[in-house]
Amino acid sequence: IVSRKNQPDSTVIKVKDTLVGGKASVMVAGPCSVESYQQTREVGEALKEAGVPILRGGAFKPRTSPYDFQGLGIEGLQILKRVGDELGLATISEIVDPRHLEEAIQYIDIIQIGARNMHNFELLKAAGETRTPILLKRGLAATMEEFLHAAEYIVSRGNTQVMLIERGIRTYEKWTRNTLDISAVPILKKESHLPVLVDVTHSTGRKDILAPCAKAALAAGADGIMVEVHPNPAVALSDAQQQLNIPEFHNFLSEVKESGLFK
Ligand code: PEP
Ligand code: MN
Repeated sequence: IVSRKNQPDSTVIKVKDTLVGGKASVMVAGPCSVESYQQTREVGEALKEAGVPILRGGAFKPRTSPYDFQGLGIEGLQILKRVGDELGLATISEIVDPRHLEEAIQYIDIIQIGARNMHNFELLKAAGETRTPILLKRGLAATMEEFLHAAEYIVSRGNTQVMLIERGIRTYEKWTRNTLDISAVPILKKESHLPVLVDVTHSTGRKDILAPCAKAALAAGADGIMVEVHPNPAVALSDAQQQLNIPEFHNFLSEVKESGLFK
């Protein structure tokens, strides 16, 4: 179903007033984790000012260590809803457990399935039973075929509103957190009709190369970019070293927009 052979026209997904996969490029930004109303609202205001329509923020965090901050859970989704409603932003958050889906869709506009759960077939099937747009991340070591099969699990259950997002893969390279597989973008666009985004933050883990990587993604045909932004990254409860502060975010956006690649 996700194959372009099956559907030549690109899928366009409407989220609030924003079209993902249409003619215009889409920016998704926000903190790694929702930490408080104030923190989320501050980022939301920066997005609003910049004309960025989709606010991200993790509430259920799949952390490597069980001793690290695990997220605010449902309360985090409620904060996202409040800020989204107040500022007119669409919201996105990761869900890791099928049992949370029903409640989560009351609060958020897009459900993210994270890299660690791309192979969680029961979660994919449950996401396919909802009619809420899904942002599906590429697994840490997933091939293109595995990635598209994961999407197929969702759409085959009737939820055709799936967006794919490249977020870097594991390689031997240590100077980036993951290796941004830029070739994934034209391949996914060619093989599938689903929108394709690139998460430049988790791909690289490096603030100093986000703008060139975003430009490369757009040049390769990406429909949108995801980036992490925090009012005070130094005290962030997760991914402190890779999140942009608000002035850095505005600079990042200007640089990407000035390239003319962000349509
Ligand atoms: C995230 O976007 O918050 C996240 C945890 O990313 P990934 O699943 O790509 O590691
Ligand atoms: Mn993060």
